[in-house]
Amino acid sequence: VPWRATILTLYPEMFPGPLGISLSGDALGRGTWALETRQIREHGIGRHRSVDDTPAGGGAGMVLRCDVLAAAIDAAAPADDPRPRILMSPRGKPLTQARVRALSAGPGAVIVCGRFEGVDERVIAGRGLEEVSIGDYVLSGGEIAALVLIDACVRLLPGVMGKLASGDEESFEAGHLEYPHYTRPREWEGRAIPDVLSGGNHGAIAKWREAESVRLTRERRPDLLVSCKI
Ligand code: SAM
Repeated sequence: VPWRATILTLYPEMFPGPLGISLSGDALGRGTWALETRQIREHGIGRHRSVDDTPAGGGAGMVLRCDVLAAAIDAAAPADDPRPRILMSPRGKPLTQARVRALSAGPGAVIVCGRFEGVDERVIAGRGLEEVSIGDYVLSGGEIAALVLIDACVRLLPGVMGKLASGDEESFEAGHLEYPHYTRPREWEGRAIPDVLSGGNHGAIAKWREAESVRLTRERRPDLLVSCKI
């Protein structure tokens, strides 16, 4: 059974989008993972298939209706669907590589993309949605956030990264930022590749990379070093 993503959205034409290209696109073509989009508007109200309404208490913008969204969720994922139900939301728990790894090891995800001012709060508890944020900024909709989440998960599926596979030397996997990379030419515009990388001493290379990782993490993301010690 492939890893399966079901997306609930008002803009299904945004998928697979960039996920149809390169490693994720090839893997999609091979059936390593599957993508299904569901148009929330199919569960809209009345002749106009209306999905949103004005916020209770007043204020700007519109809110996605809980009854419409719940009907879309129920149609897309029955109660016994084992996949986590995720609502992309700037208020959510920040997405981490650890969470990505856990998600990619599971059966997939049902992902709800918000729009407008967001969704009626009641559907979050009513349908057991877990709110996930991709960062402290506001996008115009959940679709691009869903693409980010799926991309991060799919590249970890067996066979997707091919020979690049290990993945565990990468930024965040080991709790620190990745060391710098170089390739040919050996000298470029007066900048040379660090000698140690051309010396063929693998022990020394590993040590240098580890030291660079720690240095970069200390400089740029000291918060990662702190959380690593726990
Ligand atoms: N009024 C909301 C607020 O201030 O928190 C912003 C709503 S935003 C314009 C519309 C939708 O985009 C959200 O419901 C969510 O699905 C998605 N979205 C925006 N920023 C996001 C982020 N950083 N991470 C995940 N989803 C996000």
